[in-house]
Amino acid sequence: MRLRPACPRARLHALQVREMENCPHFNAGRGSVLTTDGTVEMEACVMDGNTMRCGAVSGISTVVNPVSLARLVMEKTPHIYLAFDGAEAFAREQGVETMDPSHFVTEENKERLRQAKEANRVQIDYTQQIKGQETQAPKDDNSRIGTVGCVAIDAAGNLATATSTGGLVNKMVGRIGDTPVIGAGTYANSLCAVSATGKGEAIIRHTVARDVAAVMEHGGLSLQEAAARVVAGVPPGNVGLVAVSAAGEVSMVHNTTGMFRACAAEGGHSEVGIWHDDANGHC
Ligand code: ASP
Repeated sequence: MRLRPACPRARLHALQVREMENCPHFNAGRGSVLTTDGTVEMEACVMDGNTMRCGAVSGISTVVNPVSLARLVMEKTPHIYLAFDGAEAFAREQGVETMDPSHFVTEENKERLRQAKEANRVQIDYTQQIKGQETQAPKDDNSRIGTVGCVAIDAAGNLATATSTGGLVNKMVGRIGDTPVIGAGTYANSLCAVSATGKGEAIIRHTVARDVAAVMEHGGLSLQEAAARVVAGVPPGNVGLVAVSAAGEVSMVHNTTGMFRACAAEGGHSEVGIWHDDANGHC
């Protein structure tokens, strides 16, 4: 499942992502998909649009909420991006909640890894069939669980984004995807905030998140137009994103079969969507 809400208060975006990291049904935090060695290497990123401050982590195997660690990198270090042993050491130093690496490894993800290995593939987190749960896991890509992301704008026009993931099933140990790469899976400036999902290598190649902002800035396009153009430029089946602009315009476009998504505005209006004809961001 891929839930990608746009929430109305910028400061809530990381909290929103923490909730989803704690739920084993998402490909982030507990529930993260497994590397080829059967281990978890989580990644997360946050960015504040007005200040352009950002923080990112990769190779996380014990931190319960990687998105919070990314935020601490932003707030407490002179750097942007910490990975593997250094990031884990920083987590200990900051006293964030940690668990044994086995806490993050679910039976469902062991099965996803088994299937990916059998097919000799590195793949997005979908499961073709989980033993004993065949009816809940159809044989197509609609059974994806999904990287999680959130973009937000508050009443003062502050934009922010956060993304968190376990990456791809059967990924090489040490592989870094788009999520923590500023401008690829995650980006915010004073025009818009963007969080992407899909095949990390394609998203990095197309600098998806930054491109949305650049097309708005240099092409004078609206957020909806810019996001649609950028997503259309990525090979089909590879990307989806949620984005919000400084004007409060929301875009949730994807060239995958579906993308679990939702948006909510102050005043109580909300929309949820999965397929192309569902909510596309008119909050
Ligand atoms: N973009 C993530 C990655 O490639 C995976 C995902 O979005 O599901 O690491």
